[in-house]
Amino acid sequence: MGLIKTTGIVTKATKYGETSLIVTILTRDFGKISAIANNVRTKRSRMLAGLQLFAYSELVMYKAKSKNGLYNIDEMNVLEGFNSLRSDLDKMAYASYFAEAANGAASEDEFEEEVISLLLNSLYALDKDLCDPQKIKMVFEWRLAAVSGYAPQLETCGGCGCDNNIYGLSLTDGTVFCKNCLGERKGVAELSDNMRKLVEYISHADGKKIFSFEANAEVVKYLGQVGEKYLSVQLEREFKTLDYLKKVTALGDMQNAEQN
Ligand SMILES: [Zn+2]
Repeated sequence: MGLIKTTGIVTKATKYGETSLIVTILTRDFGKISAIANNVRTKRSRMLAGLQLFAYSELVMYKAKSKNGLYNIDEMNVLEGFNSLRSDLDKMAYASYFAEAANGAASEDEFEEEVISLLLNSLYALDKDLCDPQKIKMVFEWRLAAVSGYAPQLETCGGCGCDNNIYGLSLTDGTVFCKNCLGERKGVAELSDNMRKLVEYISHADGKKIFSFEANAEVVKYLGQVGEKYLSVQLEREFKTLDYLKKVTALGDMQNAEQN
């Protein structure tokens, strides 16, 4: 058996048997993998910290010749624990959505550098309170669509090719339409010129600069609402964790309103 080294983020963890865990890990070199860590649910296991949800670690593993095709984890060295993401209800809800969406976008056994970098940067920004969680979510959604090959075409109308009088983005077509070509089309989200520029920036900027822009909270909120629908339509998936995130944030808004 050959040992394999890579780095990855735990995006799902399930108990298995008395003492083992089966985890989904988004790895830099092998995309999304399923792995088993045997005999780790004991207090003495040094691997427990690395097997927690959202932990980012160096991994040593091997693929056993078993029927289930799982990798076996041999060693884990935690690089970032992201502890606040598991102790804060709001952050937990955001991070869980990011993890589920990244899992939905990533393929198995393929190089997924951009997906893992995006997930890592987003979890980092959330953990360290670098910017408003709604902004992180909005950026994450548009960027995940882009790195998955679904960057929207925002510059010219998908019908006539003009670049003025643009109305909005068709979520299914992934392209904008002008007012003349809109017709009876359904599922078109109105986007201002400014919003189109912003989404264009998020889709194509250098990975380290995706959060480096100013936008008011209303714009961020609206682009988040459009972004979550666009991502779901383009990836052809619904995310359970998004419903949960909405419940948690609605609860927070209610509590804030009562205090004010
Ligand atoms: Zn047109």
